[in-house]
Amino acid sequence: MVGGLVVVWKTLDEARIEASGCTRCRLAEGRTQVVWLDGNPESDLMFVGEAPGFNEDKLGKPFVGAAGKLLDQLLESIGLDRSGCVICNVIKCRPPANRNPEADEIATCSPYLRAQIEFIKPKVIVTLGNFATRFMLDRQLSITRVRGQIFKAFGAKIIPTLHPAAALHSGGVGSPQFALIRSDFDLIKAELAKDIPAPIPVRVPVPEVITESPLQQDPLF
Ligand code: SF4
Repeated sequence: MVGGLVVVWKTLDEARIEASGCTRCRLAEGRTQVVWLDGNPESDLMFVGEAPGFNEDKLGKPFVGAAGKLLDQLLESIGLDRSGCVICNVIKCRPPANRNPEADEIATCSPYLRAQIEFIKPKVIVTLGNFATRFMLDRQLSITRVRGQIFKAFGAKIIPTLHPAAALHSGGVGSPQFALIRSDFDLIKAELAKDIPAPIPVRVPVPEVITESPLQQDPLF
C-alpha cells in the first residue's frame, strides 16, 4: 500500500489484463479498445491525462493525436522522449463524442490508475488539465489557478499543468497557453533532477609508486 492506495492485483500486468476486458462502466459499450498506457513503466515521471480520444481509441495508445504530438515536442524540449516517462489517463475508455467523463465513470475506473501509480511508483506525476488534477488532488481545483505548483499526493510530487489540447485550441506553439506549459516543463525537469541521486564519487586507486633501483649488473657478466 502506498499513499493510501489499496490495489487488488499482484502485478501491473494483471491489472492491465483485467482492464483490457473491463465492462464495469457504460464506456465499455462504445470503445474500440481500452487504452492502458504508453512509455516506460520503469521511469520516475508519469503524465496523467483525462481520457482517450478518437485516435487513442483506434490505436490503443494515449496521446497519439495532435495533442500527443505537442506533448512529444514538450518532452523533447526537456531532453526526454516517451522512453523516459509513462503516459496514461484517468479514464481508460473513450467517452462518446469525446464528452467529459462523468463522476461515476471516474470513480469506477479509478482502481486502474491507482494500480498504475502503485506499481510504477513515479516520483513526479504531471496532471494534464482539470480532470486529472482534481482526481489526483481530490479537490475541485481550477487548473489555471494551480498549474506550475508542486503538491504531494500518492507518494509523489504532483505538478499540474494545462492539457496540451488547451494550447492547440488557443493557437498552438505560439499561444500564451503553450508558453505556460513550456515553463511548467522546466519545473518538471528541475524536480526530476533533484530526485536523481548524486553520483557516488569513484575512488580511483592510487597506483603504487615503485622506485626503480639502479640496474644491477648480472654477476655473470
Ligand atoms: S472506462 Fe474504466 S471502468 Fe469503464 S469500462 Fe473502461 S476500463 Fe472499465
